[in-house]
Amino acid sequence: MDEAQFSRAVEILRGSEYVVAFTGAGASTESGISDFRSPGGIWSRYDPNLYANYHVFLERPHLYWELALELTPAVFAAKPNPGHLALVDLEKQGKLRAIITQNIDTLHQRAGSEVPVLELHGTYGHCTCLECGKEFSRLDVVERVRNGERVPRCTCGGLIKSGAVLFGEPMPLRVVDEAYEHARRSDCFVVIGSSLVVSPANQMPIVAKSSGARLIIVNRDPTHLDHLADVVLRGKSGDILPKLVHPWRE
Ligand code: NAD
Repeated sequence: MDEAQFSRAVEILRGSEYVVAFTGAGASTESGISDFRSPGGIWSRYDPNLYANYHVFLERPHLYWELALELTPAVFAAKPNPGHLALVDLEKQGKLRAIITQNIDTLHQRAGSEVPVLELHGTYGHCTCLECGKEFSRLDVVERVRNGERVPRCTCGGLIKSGAVLFGEPMPLRVVDEAYEHARRSDCFVVIGSSLVVSPANQMPIVAKSSGARLIIVNRDPTHLDHLADVVLRGKSGDILPKLVHPWRE
């Protein structure tokens, strides 16, 4: 990691009072959940346009649940990594005001984050009946699938759908609005582990920057918004974030 860039990031954080973290799949790879675009990731094995597409789900819901059978235990077995925990510490320092996440894995909440966690792409926390809106525990629904129920349905007969937003499905508007509001208010916006290719989530760093925030990008690979950033720290978020939040610790 570039030491000059690191010192600059520490200085920016020290002078900031309204930090917003924006996390993507890369924030959770060190917890053992693979990201989308790295080789060997989930989507090299399951075509997202078939297994995680909203319109396909309405016609052939069993495909989604096939993917869910593999993915759900892996997501629930994962534990927060030092990057998630560093964000909890930044919150305790009174700086972090919100987390905007593209992740559905609930690892920020399980790490102990108490600031609003705005889940742009929904959550594995629950499933919902598309007819009556009843909520179900995801683990219970997946257990039903494992026991042979190919297409789980509510008692009202409606299809049960994952709380995670599928491709082609609208994002939760209230959550998106709230996320934009935090981006506008932030004085420091930290992107962590996102390729920044998924829209409209990738507009948020731009909104934050044009509203006057400093932009820090912590990512293993280059992103196409690196040129906008005040600081780019290349590497693993689980290594970098604890050092950023506690720069005096060895
Ligand atoms: P992405 O897969 O497009 O990009 C991940 C980025 O993280 C890459 O640029 C990679 O270089 C970087 N990265 C990987 N490991 C890293 C690490 N340890 N430290 C720092 N950077 C690291 O992910 P995205 O931008 O979040 O977009 C993909 C979509 O994937 C999102 O919509 C999200 O909903 C979904 N997704 C979520 C999860 C999850 O909940 N954990 C997992 C897979 C995919």
